[in-house]
Parts: sequence; structure tokens; C-alpha cells
Amino acid sequence: MFTLAGMDSARTATASRTPLRALATEAVHAGRDDLARQGLHAPPIDLSTTYPSYDSRGEAARIDAFAATGAEPDGPPVYGRLGNPTVARFETALARLEKTETAVAFASGMAALTAVLLVRASLGLRHVVAVRPLYGCSDHLLTAGLLGTEVTWTDPAGVADALRPETGLVLVESPANPTLAEIDLRALAHSCGSVPLLADNTFATPVLQRPAEQGARLVLHSATKYLGGHGDVMAGVVACDEEFAGHLRQVRFATGGVLHPLAGYLLLRGLATLPVRVRAASANAAELAGRLAADPRVTRVHYPRIGGAMIAFEVDGDPHEVIGRVRLITPAVSLGSVDTLIQHPASISHRIVDAVDRRGAGVSDRLLRLSVGLEDVDDLWADLDTALERPVRASGQY
Ligand SMILES: *Cc1c(COP(=O)(O)O)cnc(C)c1O
Repeated sequence: MFTLAGMDSARTATASRTPLRALATEAVHAGRDDLARQGLHAPPIDLSTTYPSYDSRGEAARIDAFAATGAEPDGPPVYGRLGNPTVARFETALARLEKTETAVAFASGMAALTAVLLVRASLGLRHVVAVRPLYGCSDHLLTAGLLGTEVTWTDPAGVADALRPETGLVLVESPANPTLAEIDLRALAHSCGSVPLLADNTFATPVLQRPAEQGARLVLHSATKYLGGHGDVMAGVVACDEEFAGHLRQVRFATGGVLHPLAGYLLLRGLATLPVRVRAASANAAELAGRLAADPRVTRVHYPRIGGAMIAFEVDGDPHEVIGRVRLITPAVSLGSVDTLIQHPASISHRIVDAVDRRGAGVSDRLLRLSVGLEDVDDLWADLDTALERPVRASGQY
């Protein structure tokens, strides 16, 4: 049984009839299992904000059911803020890749994190334990207490001692933005006991690491980055169990941070090439990390053990000069696109974090963050080599 472009059909097919498949297969097929039976190849984009129903008693029952558990309503969708079939395809696919029961998409990574914090705060669990560094705005959201939460910053070894009865969440990134510091998620999940561990998996993507397999209850992505992969979609998503997802859908419905269906479509398309993109960009990054490490103009290179397409490095000279001299590489914040981006965290992505806290988290003022794309690696190196050139050696030129 399926309805045209129905989200229930896509969900049911995925949940009950799909055998265990490898990541590369899931990337191109998950969230699309019903299409061939509907005579479709590309997923339809459903732009409806509302859905007709001649059975208002039935619709009332579906709304009651949603209010009780946050489970997606059976039958036709009700209203765009409650759920959208095209977005649901992306959620289904991401959950398959992260190996979680389900996923809930939001308008941005920050909207996704906000919803998680509100779910916990609504239960009176307003205390958060977090490990620095985090993405600058995530750090700021916690430090400013904008959502009525209180944060204790600690290192992974200190998490167990930092827990209180009212602790609602433990929040980490691994590899972390921007230093690429890594955390043993399995050991950390153990220290969290019954407190949900949220692992921001934006940098690793499910291609390199699936935190839920290591005990994280919540896996967050800024889907703006690798999942979209082309620098043209802003989105966030939380992959988790059905129970937590119900709370997240209710908060999303109440606060309105929904993902637009066109963005859902682009994200589903982005997922199809995610494994290929991440592996190719990671091969470029591993090569560049090696060349940077061997270069006397570079004092330190951070490249994660699990690999990936992000590099952080500290320069001997002025990092602002390096940013000013790149030509092929784009000097811009954000990451995870097909093209290579570089930025100076102390000036841009982590500017909002207090300088003492920022440096304490290992974000040196000389640190540059490179998001390596799919260009030819020698072309990228030639650009970096020129950008690293010291002014004194470039005399006679500018
Ligand atoms: C960018 C980013 C975020 C925030 O995501 P937006 O989509 O920009 O709201 C959260 N976590 C990490 C690790 C990020 O890099």
C-alpha cells in the first residue's frame, strides 16, 4: 500500500522490507524504496503546506496521536510544519546511514541543536555538560544560556564527575571544529550513564564514523556541510531513536524550525554521492596534510586518525596573509563543499567564543582551518604553496 509521494510508504518500505545493505548502497537507495513501484525514478518534491481531508474526526485523532508521542501521523500529512514527505525521504535515508531508528530534520544545524536543548529543558533538565572545542555558535549558545540552560565545560575524563541530577545532555564534537581533536565516543558514552550523549558528527559524516554504534543516543549534523555537499543548502538533522525523535518533532512543530522541501530534495540528492565525495576529498586531504607537515613554514598540522577532508594547521607567519593570498582555494567560512575553503577560526568561525576560552580549547591565533574539496591535489598544493610564501621571499612581487 502506498500513496503518491507518501511519506508513510517510504518509511514502511525502509523499516520493514529492506534488508541490511552496505553504506554505499544505502546512500543511493535509502528513502527511495517506493519510487519504482510508483513509476518514478527521481523523488517527487511535495511543496504543499496543507493537505485536504474530508474526515475531520480522523484528522483530530491523528493530531491527538502526534500530541501524545510525536510519532508521524498515519495516513496523509496534515500541515507542512508537522511533516513533509520530501523531507521525510531525507530523514529516512540519513537514519539508514547513521544506523539509527529515525532522524528529524531542521532548518539549520543550530535549529537542530536548539530543539535538542529545548526537549531536555522542557523536562526540567537544564544542565548541559560539554567538551571544548565546539563549533563557535554551539559554544556561544551554551555559554550565553540563551535557552535557559547552564553549561559545565570539562574534558572527556571529567564528564562523569560533572553530571548532576538535572543534567539533560552531554555534548561533544569528534573530530571537533576547528582543531579536529578526537574523543573516544564509546568510553565517553559509558561515562554518561543514562544521560543522553549527543555527538556532533558533522566533520566525520556516517561514511567515517557512526556514533550511535558507539553509544551516542543523538547524532547531530549541520547538513549544510558534507550532507548537502555543494554549499547551496542550509539544514540540520538529528539521527536518534523513535522516542527522542517524537519529542524533537513536537518541538519542531511548536517552534517552527522546519526544513524546506526543496532543501530536503537537495539533501537526499547530496547523500547519494556522500561516500564518494568524502573518500575522494579525504584522499586529497591526507596528501595535503603530509605535505604541510613536511613544510618548514608550517609549525603544526592537525589531521584526525579517522581521516576526513578537514585539516587544521598553524603557520609560522601571519595567518591573515595566507588567507589574503589564496586564489584557487576560496577564503570563506563553512566547510564540506566540493570546492576547497580556508578560514581563520580566531577571526571567523570561533570569533564569538571568548579569546581566553578559545585559546584554552587549543584554537591558537595562528590556526587555519582547511576544508579540502575535490580539485586536483597538485593544483591545491600549488595554491597553498604560493599562499604560504613569506612576503620577504616574494619581494619584487605582490
Ligand atoms: C556549521 C556547524 C554547526 C551549525 O550548523 P548550521 O547549519 O550552520 O546551523 C554545528 N556544528 C558543527 C560542527 C558545524 O560545523
